[in-house]
Amino acid sequence: MNFFIQRSELRDIYDKVVAGERISDADALRLFETKDLNALGAIADFVRAKKNGNRASFIINRYINYSNYCILSCEFCSFSRKKRDADGFELTIPQIVEKAREALKLGITELHIVGGLHPSLPFSHYVEMLKALKTLDARLQLKCFTAIEILHLAWLAKKSVVETLAELKAAGLDSLTGGGAEIFRKEVRSAIAKGKESAEEYLDVHRQWHQLGGRSTCTMLYGHVESLADRVDHLRQLRALQDETHGFTALIPLAYQPENNDIPVTTPPTGYDSLRTIAVSRIYLDNFPHITAYWIGLGMKLAQVALSYGADDIHGTIIEEHIFHMAGATSPQLQTEADMIKAIRETGRTPVQRNTFYEPIKILPDINQAGGEAPENLAHSKVLEDNLATA
Ligand code: SF4
Repeated sequence: MNFFIQRSELRDIYDKVVAGERISDADALRLFETKDLNALGAIADFVRAKKNGNRASFIINRYINYSNYCILSCEFCSFSRKKRDADGFELTIPQIVEKAREALKLGITELHIVGGLHPSLPFSHYVEMLKALKTLDARLQLKCFTAIEILHLAWLAKKSVVETLAELKAAGLDSLTGGGAEIFRKEVRSAIAKGKESAEEYLDVHRQWHQLGGRSTCTMLYGHVESLADRVDHLRQLRALQDETHGFTALIPLAYQPENNDIPVTTPPTGYDSLRTIAVSRIYLDNFPHITAYWIGLGMKLAQVALSYGADDIHGTIIEEHIFHMAGATSPQLQTEADMIKAIRETGRTPVQRNTFYEPIKILPDINQAGGEAPENLAHSKVLEDNLATA
């Protein structure tokens, strides 16, 4: 048994976890409140290793925000703009396709596309965008839209949510994004995102997508006005839906970024808070295969440490990120494939390039083993060739 757990007040929770018993909400709150980060991390690492062995994954992807115009004005949002704002933007479909074409040269396997709730674009625009991207490369996985965007599109299309999702799926949508979950508790939600969809609506969009055979990620925005009990409540609702549908691939905890918005919080979550949140999520969400350490919000250094606190994935190359950076994130805009591999290898894990569904595309053995390569020798084009050969 891990030295830290042996001496810890969390020993009873560790015993439950080892016995394969589900931990309770009260246990989760105790885990959030403990000051014994070493023991907490050791329990989370036990769960991670049991689920994912020695592998840690990343994805070669590109973000595209098609527009930041939005009819809503969520208090915590630093991204949205009105048509009158000088720094609003909107990409045409040919511009989006061109960004995708350029990114394909870098070996991307996924486009992650979200935007605001645009005031005037018709539903057909979004369908055409998906079709145009699939025409560019049918193997490119399209992970698009948050739950509130789906509700907006359903409203535009004058169709039910399930009909809207089915039409988007037919046009090429592979996965929903997990964005927009924020914190589910009503009081917190109305303080930071008044007018946005309710927790029930968020969960129901994902439920209906899962029932269509789709998969998605989900998120939790932490470190603003919520309490630790609110975080447990949020995780509880995600765990319950996962019991029902098994459609979530991963939880992506999102560290709140405090700049350029109306929330009275001046600092982002500390490293301590982020590590405990990732660790508790890993232990509590026993029905989730993966926990992602989102380097955009954490910084790559902390994301790397999170691999020893329950995370088994460090997300993607991203290339161009707006939402967190407009809220003050100081991380770079992109990571190279080589940097991600290096960060994973340093932790002793085997890097795995994954696809949108967290399935392995390529396992990169240790540099000292046959087939192992130094990150600097890995050209993007080589990975692209490999992807194309195995697709
Ligand atoms: S969080 Fe989304 S829905 Fe809310 S204002 Fe920002 S872009 Fe619009």
